[in-house]
Amino acid sequence: MRVSFLGLGAIGTPMAVHLATPPFELVVWNRTMTKADAFATEHGCSYAANPREAAAHAEVLITCLTSSREVEALMDGPDGIVAGLKAGALLVDCTSGDPATSIVIAGKLKALGVRFVDAPVSGGVKGAVAGTLTVMCGGDSRDVDRARVVLGAFGKKILHCGGVGAGDAVKAMNQALLAIHIWSAGEALATLAQLGVTAEVALDVINGSSGRSNTSENLFPERVVGRKFPRTFKLALLDKDIAIAAQISRDNNVRTPLIDLAARLMKEAHAELGEEADHVEAVRVIEDRSGVIIV
Ligand code: NDP
Repeated sequence: MRVSFLGLGAIGTPMAVHLATPPFELVVWNRTMTKADAFATEHGCSYAANPREAAAHAEVLITCLTSSREVEALMDGPDGIVAGLKAGALLVDCTSGDPATSIVIAGKLKALGVRFVDAPVSGGVKGAVAGTLTVMCGGDSRDVDRARVVLGAFGKKILHCGGVGAGDAVKAMNQALLAIHIWSAGEALATLAQLGVTAEVALDVINGSSGRSNTSENLFPERVVGRKFPRTFKLALLDKDIAIAAQISRDNNVRTPLIDLAARLMKEAHAELGEEADHVEAVRVIEDRSGVIIV
């Protein structure tokens, strides 16, 4: 199957690795061309000079960019995706996108006989390397079934959530929960540190109790207690994701004061820590504001 992959970022790269072997014939493209060149050399596939060339190769085209805005921006122009795609092709967007833009993109492609599935992923860089990502899909069931062949290369759990945009919506809400878990666990552990309870003891209790989460079980022990903060998923992206969640709630007249507050806190943390900070580093802002280190 001829597959093209656009977006060799932190998670796109390990996802694309799974497509670099038969039955897939892979072509990659990345804005920073040196990354595509290096990937093609290392994994024995080809790279395209522009999105049009990548799209022209593809029966299935996968995008994994920062946001839907970047995906939409690659559509048009003489070297854009639309100029290359053939009728009958399928675009699978693994970006954590926003439903409204995905619906616009799907509509534009439909007029050209091209199908669209939004298919954001969860499981982090580790899950992408292991090929165990969870993939949440939005689109027609026949298109989602077609996408499964490719998504199964890096995904373990592939779920059809609804029509176009439903995958984006589920992903955004998952990210809202992640942001809330990080911030609330940070506040709880900062308070306990001030009382003289170590983070190790506090997490031992919480992880045997009803307050536990993936954040307390996996993220905090490695990153906060270990003071390592590896940069695997940018805080800037979590800020983007929870802003999408808040927007979806507003668009659907659902009052979500907690999501709105967490979105504001993530925006502030992003502004304070900059573009390269990892999402778990948001706890540094809690520490700074309280003058306490979680140890
Ligand atoms: P990165 O910031 O590491 O990579 C972003 C990718 O998008 C790069 O390939 C970058 O190209 C490309 N890009 C950015 N702007 C443009 C543009 N204007 N035109 C063309 N290409 C562009 O992000 P991640 O790989 O971490 O994330 C990608 C998506 O996956 C995001 O939507 C994110 O929310 C989601 N995600 C990430 C996870 C993670 O653990 N990292 C987990 C789950 C989902 P270049 O190399 O030139 O900068």
